[in-house]
Amino acid sequence: MQCEPSEEQRLIETTARQFAAEVLRKVAAERDLNGTFPERELRQLAELGLLGVNVPEQYGGSQAGVVAYSLALAEIAAADASVSVAMAVTNMVAEIICAFGSEQQKQTYVTRLCSGEAVAGAFALSEPQSGSDAASLQTVAERVPGGYRLTGNKQWITSGDRAGVIVVWARTDGGKADRRNQSAGLSAFVVEGGTPGLTAGRPEHKLGLKGSTTVPLSFDGCLVPESARLSREGDGFKIAMVALDGGRIGIASQAVGVGRAALMAARDYSKERKQFGQPLSDFQAIANMLADGATQLEAARLLTLRAAYLKESGQGYSQKAAMAKLYASEAAGRICDMALQVHGGYGYTREYPVERYLRDARVQRIYEGTSEIQRLVIARSVLKEFSDHAS
Ligand SMILES: Cc1cc2nc3c(=O)[nH]c(=O)nc-3n(C[C@H](O)[C@H](O)[C@H](O)COP(=O)(O)OP(=O)(O)OC[C@H]3O[C@@H](n4cnc5c(N)ncnc54)[C@H](O)[C@@H]3O)c2cc1C
Repeated sequence: MQCEPSEEQRLIETTARQFAAEVLRKVAAERDLNGTFPERELRQLAELGLLGVNVPEQYGGSQAGVVAYSLALAEIAAADASVSVAMAVTNMVAEIICAFGSEQQKQTYVTRLCSGEAVAGAFALSEPQSGSDAASLQTVAERVPGGYRLTGNKQWITSGDRAGVIVVWARTDGGKADRRNQSAGLSAFVVEGGTPGLTAGRPEHKLGLKGSTTVPLSFDGCLVPESARLSREGDGFKIAMVALDGGRIGIASQAVGVGRAALMAARDYSKERKQFGQPLSDFQAIANMLADGATQLEAARLLTLRAAYLKESGQGYSQKAAMAKLYASEAAGRICDMALQVHGGYGYTREYPVERYLRDARVQRIYEGTSEIQRLVIARSVLKEFSDHAS
């Protein structure tokens, strides 16, 4: 694996970095305070080709690959994690439709996602009673002449009230499967925002990611045509797992971005602030914090790029994506906490951005599979590798 990005990958990264510096960073603190959804900024990301970074050009994407996507997302997250989560989900939804959709679905929905016409994409898997145990979801897709009728409730849907294109998971087995066969009864559907029978509830009041909306969605006999189904009936669980494998590279990239922003803030502050007649950075205790943070950030960055590279080159990457997500999100949490400590009392206020970084980073250990679920995924593959070697 090449550790240095190619010229094209650098170009995408630089484009994202410039946009982050010129547009996002200046208003990130204000967005955190007001909770304004970044609709205009998402359209600008679309113009820069950043809403379909790993999507073929024929569907409006940049076709720049997974490594470029990871680098770009980290740049956006370093400036404003709220914008990065909407960008990540939109890219993820475009990729799922590219991987599992019909030609018509790709022509219709992927182009709208990449161009910004759809504003954002949303991924509606979680439900009030079904989080880590996604196969147990209860939303039902009942077959009716010409299509399906969706009934049920989704929970925690990022951009769910703004998205023009929503991928929704529902049971097509009539809810009859026993626990062991639950996953076989799931199907995925592409639903347009504003479809009658679909309503978004009140946005959640969250600890962080204030500029990203997270809403419940209610499907009350929402009618969709048969052509809305992605792939075949019963393929839903597989589609969700493939999407989440890729999505984890996105969350790891966000964590690298936020972790880097926090480390840089700690570095700068430690050089400016003087106590006992010397800069904080001259105290070994503070320098050690920076050294540990930088080392963890580098490990997170390399794990993330490795997973991105494996996905891009068509190799198995599920375990590495889980490792990257687990490690990077936990490292980002530690680095943000360290950065706040370096700032002392000022770090605990809105005068500096580190308290926002800490709040924004916290959810990275929860969404797209909690740290505990990542460990399950990794442990399963380690145990399988071990038994493969033994036989
Ligand atoms: C801000 C935000 C945005 C989100 N966006 C989306 C979105 O766009 N689309 C979407 O579908 N979902 C989204 N989610 C949902 C998110 O993916 C879930 O919150 C997550 O999967 C965990 O599910 P849960 O909250 O129901 O927790 P639970 O599954 O109830 O877990 C609670 C605790 O138990 C642990 N646990 C559960 N099962 C096990 C096990 N087998 N072994 C060990 N420990 C276990 C968990 O790790 C966790 O610590 C979002 C969540 C948040 C907070």
